[in-house]
Amino acid sequence: MDVATLAPDGLPVVGMVGGGQLARMSHQAAIALGQSLRVLAAAPADPAALVCADVHLGNPDDLDALRGLADGAEVVTFDHEGVPGAVLQALVADGVAVRPSPEALRHAQDKLVMRRALTGLAGMPDHVEVAEPADVAGLAARTGWPVVLKAVRGGYDGRGVWLLDGPDPEFVAQLLAAGTPLMAEQAVTMRRELAVQVARSPYGQAAAWPVVETVQRDGQCVEVLAPAPGLDPATAAAAQQLALRIAAELDVTGLLAVELFDTDGTAAGLMVNELAMRPHNSGHWTIEGARTSQFEQHLRAVLDYPLGATEATAPVAVMANVLGAAAPVAMSLDERVHHLFARFPDVKVHLYGKAERPARKVGHVTALGDRLDEVRARAVLAAGWLATATWADGWSPDDADARATRFPRRAVPGA
Ligand code: ADP
Repeated sequence: MDVATLAPDGLPVVGMVGGGQLARMSHQAAIALGQSLRVLAAAPADPAALVCADVHLGNPDDLDALRGLADGAEVVTFDHEGVPGAVLQALVADGVAVRPSPEALRHAQDKLVMRRALTGLAGMPDHVEVAEPADVAGLAARTGWPVVLKAVRGGYDGRGVWLLDGPDPEFVAQLLAAGTPLMAEQAVTMRRELAVQVARSPYGQAAAWPVVETVQRDGQCVEVLAPAPGLDPATAAAAQQLALRIAAELDVTGLLAVELFDTDGTAAGLMVNELAMRPHNSGHWTIEGARTSQFEQHLRAVLDYPLGATEATAPVAVMANVLGAAAPVAMSLDERVHHLFARFPDVKVHLYGKAERPARKVGHVTALGDRLDEVRARAVLAAGWLATATWADGWSPDDADARATRFPRRAVPGA
């Protein structure tokens, strides 16, 4: 190991492309490992740039910026997938350890490349590449309407996914003319969405967390239930095995999240939706809910440290995203945090330092406990309160019941 690649205390520097909330929470994990994450952020106000000491400002498609990030770093990794493959190849040619490798990362950048690579390895929705509007109708002739149209690259949080109830050749032609590469998929009838996360190191060690259920609204993840309630243990084990197989087959280093559709509760009915090769929203619950968080595990994996234990720390963990309210909220976020802590002293809050905008992920909360209905209610109420300054259950701190919970009555001696 070259001494120039080490921090003054002899511990490694990890360079992360992207300064979003995933980098911010990776930095938090890096601190405990004696490290300080170096980030390549697009702007000084990015969530990770606000908290890291070693911030490089630049664009992820700028090779010089990436070379600056890599200079003296042990490894370069990612908080998002928006880095052109050619730029990463050039970095690898320089001798930089890029994890995951550009070859592996392609499967998280390009939905068609992923679908082709997983053919024969995993169940998937019927799909076609769309070079002209007639291709969509061609798929629908097999699967029926509706059909899901997707941008092959660059989509996130449901942006770049459209449900078509019938042929819409003008819309498809418009997207193609604008240069958006497209594919179409069968609209899968599913019971629910699941996700399974694994980590894999260059040494080849791998570890899986319990399978979770992800709850989506408007194409965006709103809640994660860990473990996935009522999931047949054989199906859960099959989902973990599938993710481990995909990680090995695609030679993933670092984290891999496999988003799944659960069509009938069985292992055979699992379909892969998409892959992410970085910390993922479906793994935020692991910060409090698992022995090793996804952020620490990602650092351990890309640095080729032995991986951490992945068991849950509680029977149930529920993560709920704090999504910006539709209209500006009069109460300050700080005051909302005060009230939240007063009602739920055990709910853990993670705020990303982002300005609130409608439906924008500005933070998340995690609740732990024994019973799903109770834990989920707490997490959802807490996230809703932080987003809107409204308690969805009508709770008020001035209610007699509420006072009783906050100030338990003590028996008066001799009374
Ligand atoms: P993104 O890259 O924006 O996350 P996804 O491909 O994950 O896009 O799709 C977003 C959401 O759209 C999924 O979580 C799922 O709810 C829905 N979806 C995507 N593909 C299909 C499909 N083939 N059938 C039914 N629903 C789908």
